[in-house]
Amino acid sequence: MAVKEFWQFVVLGLLAILVGAMIGQIKTILLIYLLLWLGWYFSNMVKLGRWLEQGKKYSPPVSHGLWGYIFTEIYHMQQRKRRRNKKLAKLLGRFRESTAALPEGVIVLREQGEIEWWNEMAGELLGLKYPQDVDRRLTNLLRNPEVMDYFRNSDAQKPVHFPSPVAELKILSLKIVPYGNNQKLVVVRDVTLNKRVEEMQRDFVANISHELRTPLTVINGYLENLLEGSGDLDAERLQHTFRVMQQQAIRMRQLTDDLTTLSNVDNDKLGPRNEVVNVPQMLGSLHEEARILSGENNHTLVFEVDDELFLRGDPRELDSVFTNLMVNAINYTPAGGAIRVRWYQDDSGAHFEVNDTGIGIAPYHVERLTERFYRVDVARSRHTGGSGLGLAIVTRALQRHQAGLRIDSEIGRGSAFICDFPKEIIIHKSDIMPPAPTSLSG
Ligand code: ADP
Repeated sequence: MAVKEFWQFVVLGLLAILVGAMIGQIKTILLIYLLLWLGWYFSNMVKLGRWLEQGKKYSPPVSHGLWGYIFTEIYHMQQRKRRRNKKLAKLLGRFRESTAALPEGVIVLREQGEIEWWNEMAGELLGLKYPQDVDRRLTNLLRNPEVMDYFRNSDAQKPVHFPSPVAELKILSLKIVPYGNNQKLVVVRDVTLNKRVEEMQRDFVANISHELRTPLTVINGYLENLLEGSGDLDAERLQHTFRVMQQQAIRMRQLTDDLTTLSNVDNDKLGPRNEVVNVPQMLGSLHEEARILSGENNHTLVFEVDDELFLRGDPRELDSVFTNLMVNAINYTPAGGAIRVRWYQDDSGAHFEVNDTGIGIAPYHVERLTERFYRVDVARSRHTGGSGLGLAIVTRALQRHQAGLRIDSEIGRGSAFICDFPKEIIIHKSDIMPPAPTSLSG
C-alpha cells in the first residue's frame, strides 16, 4: 500500500510539473501540489488523533488510500485486542472461581517473597487481610522460625508443618512451588486431621503391644517358675498357677475379640444394616445376663422397655452396643448400686438409656472416652477385664445406624449413656406383625 501511495505521489507530482511547465508556473503549481498533499495528510492525522481520543466506541474515520488502510488496520487490531481481553477476562474469572473452590490455600509471591495474590482458602488458613497484607512479606506475617528456615533453603522438597497462626490447635503444611520468572507459588493445607490419624495409628499399635505384653509377661513368668522347679509345687500351687495363666489368656482373647469386632465395624464386614431387630427381645436377654454378671454385687436392675419399639439395622452391632454399655454400668457401679435401662420413643426418635449410680466420670475425661484404648483408671479397667475398646465399638456401630451417643456423668453420682436413633430406622411391632385374628363364633 505504501509503495502504491509513493508512486501516486510521484506520478501526480510529475503531472503537476507538466501542467506548471505548460503555463510557465512550475514552482507555484508544485508548491500548491505539495500544500494540498500536506493538507490531506494533516487532515487525516487530525482524524486519526480524534478517533483515538474518542476511544473504542466509534467506528474508524472514512478515508482513502494509505490512510484508509491505516484506519481499517488499526480498527481490526483494536477489535482483535478487545476479543482477546474479553477471553482473558473470562479465563481469569474462571481461574478465580476454580482457585476459590480449591481446598488448598494458594499464594503468589514476588521475587523477594512479597505477597502478590492469594485465594480465599489461603486467607482463611493464614488470616491474610486484603488490602493490608498485599506486598507484605509472607515470612514477616507468619513469624515462624521453621517457615523462615524453609524459605531460606530454596530447594526444600518436602513441605514444612507449623501451627496455624489463627487457630491454635490446627496444623498447617506449606510448600513452595517455583514458577515463571523467579516467582513462587505457595500451597498451604490444613493437615490437622492427617496428623491426628498418624498419631492415632502410632498410639493404636503402641497400645496393642502394651496390652498384650502384660499378660504375656505374667504367663512367661509362671512358665519359667514351672520349668525351673515344677517338682516343688504342690497341687494347690499348681492349680493357682494355671488359673492365673488362664485369666491372662482370657484377657488376651477378650482383647483380640474386641479388636476383631472393631475392625469388622470399621471395614463394613458385617452384614447389611436393614434387618428387623427385635430390640425388646434383645433387652430381655440382656436383663438376664446383667443379673448373672452383677452376681454378688447385687445391683438393683430396672428395665423399662417399650415392647412395640423395633429397629431396622444390624442385630449383632446393636447387641454389641447394648451389651457394652450394660457391662460398663455393672463394672463401674459399686455393690448395691442401681442400674436403670430405658428403651423408649419420643418426637426425636428412639432412645436406649443406661443410668447407673456408679463412680461417675470427670468432665475432662468424658470427651475422650470414645477414643480407642482410652480409660479413666487403667488399673480398674484391667481388673474388670476391660480393653478400653468398648466405647469405640459402640460409637462406630451407632454411626453406622445414623445414631449418636450422649454421655452425662458426674463424679461420685453416676453416669447416663444415651443412644439416640433417628425416626427413619424405627419400626413398630404392629407394622410387621398383624394383630391376631378374632375368632367368629357361630
Ligand atoms: P473398658 O473396656 O475399659 O470399659 P470402654 O471403652 O468401654 O473401655 O470405656 C472406656 C472408659 O470409660 C472406661 O475405662 C471407664 O474409665 C469409663 N467408663 C465407661 N463406662 C463407664 C460408667 N458407666 N461409669 C464410669 N466410667 C465409665
